[in-house]
Amino acid sequence: LTTGLESAWNKLKGEEVLTKDNIAEPMRDIRRALLEADVSLPVVRRFVQSVSDQAVGVGVVRGVKPDQQLVKIVYDELIKLMGGEVSELTFAKSGPTVILLAGLQGVGKTTVCAKLASYFKKQGKSCMLVAGDVYRPAAIDQLTILGKQVNVPVYTAGTDVKPSDIAKQGFEEAKKKNIDVVIVDTAGRLQIDKAMMDELKDVKRVLNPTEVLLVVDAMTGQEAAALVTTFNLEIGITGAILTKLDGDSRGGAALSVKEVSGKPIKLVGRGERMEDLEPFYPDRMAGRILGMGDVLSFVEKAQEMQQEEAEDLQKKIMSAKFDFNDFLKQTRTVAKMGSVSRVIGMIPGMAKVTPAQIREAEKNLQNMEVIIEAMTPEEREKPELLAESPIKRKRVAKDSGKTEQQVSQLIAQLFQMRVRMKKLMGVMEGGSLPTLSN
Ligand code: GDP
Ligand code: MG
Repeated sequence: LTTGLESAWNKLKGEEVLTKDNIAEPMRDIRRALLEADVSLPVVRRFVQSVSDQAVGVGVVRGVKPDQQLVKIVYDELIKLMGGEVSELTFAKSGPTVILLAGLQGVGKTTVCAKLASYFKKQGKSCMLVAGDVYRPAAIDQLTILGKQVNVPVYTAGTDVKPSDIAKQGFEEAKKKNIDVVIVDTAGRLQIDKAMMDELKDVKRVLNPTEVLLVVDAMTGQEAAALVTTFNLEIGITGAILTKLDGDSRGGAALSVKEVSGKPIKLVGRGERMEDLEPFYPDRMAGRILGMGDVLSFVEKAQEMQQEEAEDLQKKIMSAKFDFNDFLKQTRTVAKMGSVSRVIGMIPGMAKVTPAQIREAEKNLQNMEVIIEAMTPEEREKPELLAESPIKRKRVAKDSGKTEQQVSQLIAQLFQMRVRMKKLMGVMEGGSLPTLSN
């Protein structure tokens, strides 16, 4: 998926703004990448439509290239697709919280029971596991062993008792012991069948669980979304747990579940160890899929800056008042966004800058700061004063410990910047370029 998307961004290199025409090809790449990641066609269609609509109307953000903008739009849309926010688990208002786990055979239900117990214990909650898979003695043994491993009690009643009875007995036992969370393991089948669904309905009826979570294997791709939908219609679930995400390189399962079934993924399993269970963060997942965390935070910060400062800055530039205070502020904003080297690294296509060049750029920034700090407040506001007076420049050079030439260079740079920014503002306003004489 990541490589497929990569070629989409590459097609926008050199473009000035996103238009209906220049996004057509990248959008085809994105569409293909999603389909290859096993996202279902209707979901892909809606996704591509929504991204295209937004991209065409997005306008220019200062310092952000169109390909970066498209990355950001796709990222936001991916998050939305996966439900936006983290879906927290719900807890019962009184009495034990009951979590019923369902799912096909081998998806990781029994493992999830113990992982969940370990997860809750870390939050200071007491847990009990209930062995509701009565078809194989080995299943009960497995849960017992895992329970020991994470140090929580396991309620078992052998293989001759109905799962719904075991569930009820286990729940009563937990209530007596003032346990906070009861986690009920159930039997899976290789495929959905009526007996399994009936059994789950039975267990659900007697337990009235707070959460009914369907455990799905991420390797099943878009089939995962279909499973969640079916289980939801049949027994009614509150969410899903996506397991084996450590082995899934495609991510398609995570993308479609919410959109197709209407139910959120609440947790993900990323390995066989007991610690390998975590909440499902749509934003992190989207970032992982895009593999471009740096570009994303860069665009986000640029957009924030844009909103906060653009108006103020624009006024100043239009009246040619961009002074050394603004210059300093800009420089520091860049520093806030990460050191120069990081910012440069964030910009695709700029990664070939050598470390020596980066060190040079950083040193230049520091020099600028030192020189500006040696100016009087008045000089900072009115750089013309310095431009007109060699004596003042000499003083600044002496106080900052830099050469007169460096001071002159910085002043020239500020005036160049005024011109450049004025030009840029003209472009951003969609107006014609202003004449360059001030
Ligand atoms: P159940 O039949 O649904 O109860 O599945 P199990 O809990 O017995 O798990 C089946 C297999 O999947 C076991 O070998 C687990 O160790 C393995 N497994 C479970 N969760 C994960 C996971 O998140 N990542 C990986 N790599 N393996 C897992
Ligand atoms: Mg099992």
